[in-house]
Amino acid sequence: MKTLDIEKIRKEFPALNREVHGKPLIYLDNTATSQTPQRVIDAVRSMYIDHKANVHRGVHTLSQEATDLQEQTRRHVARYINAHSEREIIFTRGATESINLVASSFGSMLPDEGEIILTVMEHHADIVPWQLLQSRRPGLKIRVVDINDRGELDLDQYRSLFNEKTVMAAFTHVSNVLGTINPVKEMTAFAHEHGVPVLIDGAQASPHLHLDMQDLGCDFYVFSSHKMYGPAGIGVLYGREELLEKMPPYQGGGEMIGHVSFSGTTFAELPFKFEAGTPDFVGIAAFDEALTFLETTGLDAIEAHEEHLLDIATKGLREVAPNVRIFGEAHHKSAVLSFLIGEEHPYDFGMLLDGLGIAVRTGHHCAQPLMERLGIPGTIRASFAVYNTEDEVRAFLNGVARVAAMLG
Ligand code: PMP
Repeated sequence: MKTLDIEKIRKEFPALNREVHGKPLIYLDNTATSQTPQRVIDAVRSMYIDHKANVHRGVHTLSQEATDLQEQTRRHVARYINAHSEREIIFTRGATESINLVASSFGSMLPDEGEIILTVMEHHADIVPWQLLQSRRPGLKIRVVDINDRGELDLDQYRSLFNEKTVMAAFTHVSNVLGTINPVKEMTAFAHEHGVPVLIDGAQASPHLHLDMQDLGCDFYVFSSHKMYGPAGIGVLYGREELLEKMPPYQGGGEMIGHVSFSGTTFAELPFKFEAGTPDFVGIAAFDEALTFLETTGLDAIEAHEEHLLDIATKGLREVAPNVRIFGEAHHKSAVLSFLIGEEHPYDFGMLLDGLGIAVRTGHHCAQPLMERLGIPGTIRASFAVYNTEDEVRAFLNGVARVAAMLG
């Protein structure tokens, strides 16, 4: 595996040069969104300057160029996640919209009575769309997989929840709070043994892990570009072609039709059947560069670097704050560090760290059921990306020590 030149990588990210409250920014909120490399910003700029025209509509040169650039990204995404075909790649607004699409469209094909398996560590994006489906289809019940003390899913319980009533399983690949990397391939295989389709929320896996849909075997996989060094406002739904073919459209409008008449409308082929209206073709085209950034940097090297930062941050935190409680100590863990110090409120802690130029996230992280399960209102969360350095981790640890002393 290659060793990364982090200083060189940092130079690609203009946001990392800025100051906050007169201090150099230390950006540790990468789980919420990552910063953007210059090449992605340049690609957005170039779309506005050179190629801005609506896609799939015009015969004129600009429209053809915009369409080509959008479709180039679709092919790139398909290669990036090893999908069977680019027809399986639907562009959405993000992971949230992708899950809503599945819960609404595929959900409408589920039987009236049945059980949907979720886990207690799901982000609200993978809970509420299923509850909305349930509100229309009260015969569908939600069953929830619990976690153990390390924040790993209780896989025995997961397996025990499957029965003849199970119609769907949806779970996250990586927890945005605990960092737990779930054994999604095994979980998918088990669901399939019971004939149950699987959706995987990959919002926190896609910036860090190799993804291979054909190997994973899941039915649906979702992620957002903005967490992968790409533009905000676009995301992906991967779906197995066989299922997408059978599913009804999610929204109606331009782009998604074959022919429209008042006596009846036919729908476009995949993937366009699910892409009503003008897509964010600027963001989609620029996402191509983010994927190239991830590939050329190398996912193995990214993961190893982030794991190293997590390791020194976790050890260091226990040293500088003996009264720390860390949430999520899975054997297989991504670079997310959620914690509380003594009885201090996470919000106060986060505000004071911000005063030192250190950006961390505080609160429930859109995972209120998990907070309830842990018996806490929220956590402080530091999360690492490829451009973070050991020096930044040390500055974060000093910051935590200083804030703990100030508060307590
Ligand atoms: N799932 C998980 C695990 C997440 O962390 C997030 C973002 N915090 C989402 C879904 C939703 O992503 P988006 O807001 O980009 O749609």
